[in-house]
Amino acid sequence: MSIPKTSPLADFDLSNRTIAYFSMEIALSPQIPTYSGGLGMLAGDTLRSAADTSAPMIAISLVYRRGYFRQQLNDVGQQTEADVPWSPEDLPSAGPTVTLVLQDRQVQLRAWRYDVTGTTGHIVPVFLLDSDIEGNDPWDRKLTDHLYGGDTYYRLCQEAILGLGGIALLQALRVRPEVYHMNEGHASLLTLGLLEEHLGSRPLSEATDADREAIRRQCVFTTHTPVPAGHDQFGVDQMNQVLGPNRGAAIEAAGGLHNGLLNMTYLALCLSRYVNGVAMQHGKVSQYMFPEYKVHSITNGVHAATWMSPAFQELFDSEIPDWRTDNRYFRSIYGIDPARISACHVKSKQRLFAWLARRTGHYFNPSVLTLGFARRVATYKRAGLLLQDPERLCSLAEKIGGLQILYAGKAHPADNAAKALIRDVFAAAVKLNSEFLKIYYIENYDWELGALLTQGVDVWVNTPRRPYEASGTSGMKAALNGVPSLSILDGWWIEGHAENTTGWAIENGETEETEANNLYNKLEKVIAPFWANPNAWARLQQHCIGINGTFFNTQRMLGQYFSNAYFPSGPSRFQQERLADSEEEFGLSETAFVPVNKA
Ligand SMILES: *Cc1c(COP(=O)(O)O)cnc(C)c1O
Repeated sequence: MSIPKTSPLADFDLSNRTIAYFSMEIALSPQIPTYSGGLGMLAGDTLRSAADTSAPMIAISLVYRRGYFRQQLNDVGQQTEADVPWSPEDLPSAGPTVTLVLQDRQVQLRAWRYDVTGTTGHIVPVFLLDSDIEGNDPWDRKLTDHLYGGDTYYRLCQEAILGLGGIALLQALRVRPEVYHMNEGHASLLTLGLLEEHLGSRPLSEATDADREAIRRQCVFTTHTPVPAGHDQFGVDQMNQVLGPNRGAAIEAAGGLHNGLLNMTYLALCLSRYVNGVAMQHGKVSQYMFPEYKVHSITNGVHAATWMSPAFQELFDSEIPDWRTDNRYFRSIYGIDPARISACHVKSKQRLFAWLARRTGHYFNPSVLTLGFARRVATYKRAGLLLQDPERLCSLAEKIGGLQILYAGKAHPADNAAKALIRDVFAAAVKLNSEFLKIYYIENYDWELGALLTQGVDVWVNTPRRPYEASGTSGMKAALNGVPSLSILDGWWIEGHAENTTGWAIENGETEETEANNLYNKLEKVIAPFWANPNAWARLQQHCIGINGTFFNTQRMLGQYFSNAYFPSGPSRFQQERLADSEEEFGLSETAFVPVNKA
């Protein structure tokens, strides 16, 4: 595995880094397995846009020497997992070693530096903490091996490494940021590290409201999911065991316990001056879940140069070359002949099908309408909705002259319900594949496959159960490649959807059957006729980029973080935004929203 060489540490100055970005996972390169899915992709895309715009950022994560996992699927779709070992030794080590006390053990940590380099050469350094050091307890040496592996004890140790170890590393590097951004609650323990640093020689037990306020002024928190299981919780005994009773008491005093458990989301909420959800509706849902805290919204994006197909990059490099430093130039796609846009997509579709034929021996027809559905397999994402009524699907495929459906996605190794969903798609494919309908589940959804699929299919499908999709970003990748979405109105699609212009909504229904029926109707009566009209389809592709590519990118998103969260101007800059009562109306009543924390 070859990893790009980076420059030695000595040749740049970190003292001007004002924003520290902490994330449990960051997708840095297709060759480095330090991510599992959307959260890590978002973190990586954020840093890539930060590098492009010369943002004074620095980032902290863990090294994961054995990665998340490579997915293997046998011929009935049974998933097995394999480690993805890689060697950070190819990266420069960051030098200083820091010590963290976990339970009663001293754990030495070092960090490997990966440089994210922007279009103009600006570097955002990412420090990947590593506990695999000689002298550490053999068990501790494996603490930075697996992303989302192990039990809650392992996980809490990892979160301590990220939050407390990360703050210690910044101190050792003599970096003193003004803003600490917690990308999801996994990073919440950094607040405790900051509090310890702030107190100096005073013990944690003496921390006052004023001390905590000093921490709050520096912290920004982004929450990422309305699914309860997505919010980390740990037993109080385990908290005291791993972190020690003093830190446990400090967490309790700060408000980090909820329903008698250490709740990483509440810890972050209590000690942040700015909190946001990742799409407009997700902000509202989160506000409903956490009524005592003000929750804003900053809608996610994707890094354009990472996700746009080579064909489109070539077109834009010749027509609007400044898109690389300023994504707003995508708006001028309206000056480009739609036929040229279609031609780029044809190339991406052929590229995807050639890759598939090489990899799997399966041949797909480039002239047939092709749907893509790829995401982390979780029950609320409802991979099976498209297959709900097999007879209807078959007859519809025949009526519209053929249909191809490509699936991909990993189930978490411990999620047996999700694994069963993959087998269901396999079984459906065996039963339904015919002259007119071809369904295929592609193994090992990862960065490379995610790019090929979002660039190469004709319609990107998303069928979450509302309101559980916080944002979703794969549809944004598709839009950037002129690929319209067919999706439930949830997450980002509420903002990105313009019917018959950027794609189509699957109308809400009372039952799964109704929603599946709405999906089939849309496919048969609206999308197929569109597909039969290449000029209309080309205009659609143009709108996807002109309307949605222009907005749903991490460059716009990061700009909003800068102006609204990191460095807002005016009196609100360091204001603590804690609401006394929840008097606000959040406009959720018209949705079928069930408060998920009580469900
Ligand atoms: C973009 C991406 C995701 C996140 O997309 P969602 O729309 O949130 O599902 C997950 N995994 C991979 C490999 C991706 O490229």
